[in-house]
Amino acid sequence: MSVRAKLFSAMVVLIVFMTGVFFVISHVYMENMFRQFAVATREADAQQWAVMLSYYYQKNGGTWRDVDKYVRQINEQKLSSGRETGLERLAIVDQDHHVIYSSKTSPHITQKEILSHGVEAPIIVGGRKIATLSVLDRDLEREYRLQEKILQSMAKAAMTGAVATGLVALLIGAWLTRRLTRPLQLLLDAIQRISQGDLRLKLPTDSRDEFGRVASAFNQMADQLAKAQEVRRHLVADVAHELRTPLTIIQGQLELIQQGVRKPDPETLLPIQDECMRLSRLVDDLHQLTLAEAGVLPLEVAPVDIVSLVQRVVDNFQVEADERDIRLAMRAESETAYAAVDANRMTQVFVNLVGNAIRYTPAGGRVTVVVREERGEVQIAVEDTGPGISEEHLPHLFDRFYRVEEARSRGNGGTGLGLAIAKEFVEAHKGRIEVKSQVGAGTVFTVFVPALRRWPQERASH
Ligand code: ADP
Repeated sequence: MSVRAKLFSAMVVLIVFMTGVFFVISHVYMENMFRQFAVATREADAQQWAVMLSYYYQKNGGTWRDVDKYVRQINEQKLSSGRETGLERLAIVDQDHHVIYSSKTSPHITQKEILSHGVEAPIIVGGRKIATLSVLDRDLEREYRLQEKILQSMAKAAMTGAVATGLVALLIGAWLTRRLTRPLQLLLDAIQRISQGDLRLKLPTDSRDEFGRVASAFNQMADQLAKAQEVRRHLVADVAHELRTPLTIIQGQLELIQQGVRKPDPETLLPIQDECMRLSRLVDDLHQLTLAEAGVLPLEVAPVDIVSLVQRVVDNFQVEADERDIRLAMRAESETAYAAVDANRMTQVFVNLVGNAIRYTPAGGRVTVVVREERGEVQIAVEDTGPGISEEHLPHLFDRFYRVEEARSRGNGGTGLGLAIAKEFVEAHKGRIEVKSQVGAGTVFTVFVPALRRWPQERASH
């Protein structure tokens, strides 16, 4: 059953229920009003009858024999004395609910009517109730007929009203359910189109209700999906592009060997090996990056002293820096700086940053790594006196395969993934990475990771 049908049926049920309740309440209320009015005016008369009948019962030796004659007699007396009540119809019911006496009935007035509409009074003998008397006089009879007529016409009016309002309510309900479920239908259509690959569609977000919010959340989701699709498309194109160069080199070298132009000596094989190494690095880097981007990078987090971790990285680059005539130094503003990180992944981050700094800084330059702890964060700045990066490149620097200078990066053996990996790894540790650069002056990459305050003390106490 569709939501529209459900809403519509709920409205129909509600309308029918409300009409029914209104009808029953007004009916009961009217009936009670009549009864109260009838009882109030005739109670004394019924009481008088009950007393007379109780008297008759006792006088008759505790039996109701010939009670009909007695009732007729009294009625006649009442008539001849000019009482206006007219002929009264009586019914006596004993304690076992047996009808002991009932006035003559006619098609107009039945025994049941006397019992149900008549004014009741108890017949008491010796302080004990022996029967119940119901008295229905002509006026009361007329009143009941009137009541019935009124109730009937009320029922008719209620019915007509209910049908008319019901119809209007149903029309409004149909319009309302259509209006309410329209955004849902639009959403359904949009989902179907998305599943068919159309990600450019937009839902209208002009309404301020929940549907408007769902629509804007949906549009955001479609945007994200479109972006993800775009990224994936680019990734495949980029990877294909990255693989082409080393494969072309390997293929070319191998063809030369096959044609006998070159001998397979170590000198000829070296570029092939280089390209193989670059390929395997590329595959490794891509794997790490994909894991990090998907948020499933396995991290072995432990308290690590960042000062000594960075020191080890700097020490390992010392030889390469010397070879390139670059002064590589490290400065720590405190003896230790602890952070909860995966030591291997963080080492990878600093290898990428320090490696880049050394590779892109010309001979005679300086690369300095500064570690400090500030505002609950360990900050590691890798500063160089290299060529700097112009402002237009800075926003894309951490994108995969983004290179400021294509030829130079390749010449340095870069895969174009170093900074993308550094960023993903740092973010996996709930940290961040920033870059500041000035063309001609140098570049500073700063990594921020949350500091671990209590570790050194705890460690000292052990
Ligand atoms: P690559 O493998 O090409 O070095 P990265 O992701 O590590 O890839 O770096 C992206 C680009 O950023 C590099 O190609 C380079 O142009 C630029 N870059 C990175 N670090 C520096 C730096 N310290 N100085 C100048 N340019 C840099």
